[in-house]
Order: sequence, then structure tokens, then C-alpha cells
Amino acid sequence: MSEGVYNPYVNAQAQFDRVADIIGLDQPTRDLLRQPLREYHFLIPVHMDDGSTKIFRGFRVQHNDARGPAKGGIRFHPQETADTVRALAMWMTWKCAVVDIPLGGGKGGIICDPRTMSEKEQERLCRGWVRQVAKNVGPDADVPAPDVMSSSKHMLWMLDEFETITGGHYPGFITGKPVGMGGSLGRTEATGYGVIYTLREALQDRNVDIKGTTASIQGFGNVAQYAAQLFCQLGGTVTAVSCWDNVDRKGYTFQKKEGINVNELRGITDTYGGISKEKARDLGYKVLDAMAWLEEDVDILIPAALENQITPDNVNKISPQVKMIVEGANGPTTPEADEIIKQRGIYLIPDFLANAGGVTCSYFEQVQSNANYYWEKDEVLEKLDTKMTSAFHAVNDLAKKSSLYMRDAAYVISINRVAQAVKMRGWV
Ligand code: GLU
Repeated sequence: MSEGVYNPYVNAQAQFDRVADIIGLDQPTRDLLRQPLREYHFLIPVHMDDGSTKIFRGFRVQHNDARGPAKGGIRFHPQETADTVRALAMWMTWKCAVVDIPLGGGKGGIICDPRTMSEKEQERLCRGWVRQVAKNVGPDADVPAPDVMSSSKHMLWMLDEFETITGGHYPGFITGKPVGMGGSLGRTEATGYGVIYTLREALQDRNVDIKGTTASIQGFGNVAQYAAQLFCQLGGTVTAVSCWDNVDRKGYTFQKKEGINVNELRGITDTYGGISKEKARDLGYKVLDAMAWLEEDVDILIPAALENQITPDNVNKISPQVKMIVEGANGPTTPEADEIIKQRGIYLIPDFLANAGGVTCSYFEQVQSNANYYWEKDEVLEKLDTKMTSAFHAVNDLAKKSSLYMRDAAYVISINRVAQAVKMRGWV
């Protein structure tokens, strides 16, 4: 994630430029869509428990809001950069457009490591972030949500601060809130389930029975856990997952050839997706290197951790057995690795389509929050499935019809929708 070495913003712009060429996008629209409309960079002073004061750096980037209020999560990460947030904001615009929800794209971030902060310090940090951007966000302007290492408890502190500043109840300001406090049932599961809804459709389209298929997953955070759970429920076998060990400062893969047991692993996992190595060994898991998940002899790979994971250095280690890659994370594949995956004929469901379930459910949450009327879980998941399934088929059909790589097909649909919105508004 460091600028200079690998820059996700350069990657996001390269992906955009490729497709802008394919569809012959005019210059002003190109100039408008290949960079963020607005961005806010600020400092957040936080009083720490030991009496010291630490200064954190925060960001909010609004890439585009022609189709509706900007929407996207807030990441807490020690290696967060402005360019990472810019790239992720841009991907949010394409994500909301591909599932055709009336929202734009935004992203926030704080350079911090919540794993080393107390609850109270985290609360002050969340409130501090909101104080810096309260004037520039809101239910009608820009709606944040959880992302890497941020969760429902952070969202509620942020909502509380926003409501304290604005003096009212605005549950539609933020999504991913706790259920019972303005959150939607199904939101926790939504991203991981959405990944599997698209995978299920892709397999069906190829006449492959999901029962009997095998998968290896990178990560064991929120997205990976629910993806693994639904994939297993549908009859698939997950042979490996991975996680970051914050004590050893490195990642590990946890492998069980006969299939992992999601609930058993959850029982030995912390809130950031860190699995206990000792307990996993006791349960019969092999503990391997961080990237061993990528080399598994499986049918499907699901990178569901961070960006910049499948690179030119490791892409050739992907087993010949792998027929599909479903990107649960944002930006896990670098453009060079993407080219090799394309050449090898591996079918790929791109990130902003595969992981759009989270923001789709966030949209449902915002609708429920604004109406102050909450739906049953089945209703939420059914609507989510419908949205994800139709978005998948629109992209898949275009890819087939126009012989496009799935990532390019998804981009064609999204960019066209956003370009149409900026034109209809008379911006270009
Ligand atoms: N952070 C999630 C994403 O990258 C969800 C965003 C949202 O719910 O607004 O899609």
C-alpha cells in the first residue's frame, strides 16, 4: 500500500483509462471521472489514556456524486495513504453504479492501528474524525460505513457525534450501525454473501455444480468469514483461509484439505480476523506461509483481505486447477497480474462487482433508517440476492456478447452509467 512501490490510485486510473479508450469517452468526462471531485485531509488530535496527545491523520474523498450522495467506508490502517483512499473512493463510484443503486462513490481513512488502541481512544478518534468533516458529509451528501478494521461500534460513535453537532436524529448519516440502533439485519453478512451470490451464478452459467467445488480464501475477517460460511452451506469445501498475525507482524495460511469448519475457526479468531495458531494446530489445521492460500490446488480463489495481493511475483504460483477468481477485497490484483490471469483464461469476477453486497445492503440500511422502518432479515437478503444476481448477469452477458474480460465489462457498464449522469446534469 505504500506510495511509490505499489500505488492503487495509479492502478485505478489505469483501469479507468483502458475502458475510457474502449468506449471512446470524451475528454471532459474522462478528466472529470479519472480523479476525485473533492477531498478533505485533516488532523485529528486525540487525548490518549496515558495523558499524552497523539495527532492522527484523516481523509475523506468524494470521487463522484452525480448518481446520488457519495458512499463508502472508513478504513483504519497504519499504512493508509491519500492515494489508497482516492483509489477506493473511485472504485466505490463504479461499485454503486454496477449494482445500479442511486449513490456515488466516496471513501475515508485514518492512519492508525486500532489493535493497539483502547476502546476509549478509538471512541475519541471516531468522534474527532466526524468533527473534522461534519460540514461536508451527511445523509444527503456523503454517507460513510465500516471498512478495513472499522466496525458497527465505531459507526455508532460517529453517528452520535454527528447528531450532537447537528442537533437531531439522522440515522441515515452512516451505515453499518449495530442492529437495533439503526442498523440493518443482514448488513454484517452482506459483503461475504454477495461474493458467493455472484460465484453461484457464475458456476451455474458454466453448468458447474457448486457442490464438490473447492476454494481457498485469503483473509478471515468479516468478508472472508461470511463468504466461507455461505460457500460451505451451498456444498462447497474451503481448504484454506489466511490471516494477519499482529504479534508476529506476518500472515499465515490455515489449511485443512478435508475442509475448514467456519464456526470452529471463528471460535479461535479475534475481532480483526486474527486466528490463534496454537489452537488451530490443536484442531488439526496446518499453519503455512502467508501466501500459501494462493498456491492451493482448488477450483476457486477468493482474495478477501487487502489490495495488492496477486502480483507479477506470485501470479504464476496459481495452480492450473484454478478456474475462477472472485475478488472479495478491493483491488487485490495488480494490473500486470491481471494481464496474466486474463491470458491464462481464468474467469475473474472483479472486486467492485463481487464485493458490492456490502454497499448494496448499506443502501437498504439507509432507506430503512431514513424511513425509520426496519425490514426482516429474509427480506433484506432476498433483495440483496436479486440485486447481486442481476448485476452479475448484466456484466456476464456483456462480457460474452462483446468478448470482454469481466473486469472491463463491469467497467463499461459503470462508466457509462456515471458518464450519462454527469452529462444529464449538464456538468460536461
Ligand atoms: N466498505 C465497503 C466497501 O468497500 C462498504 C461501503 C458501504 O457500505 O458504504 O464496499
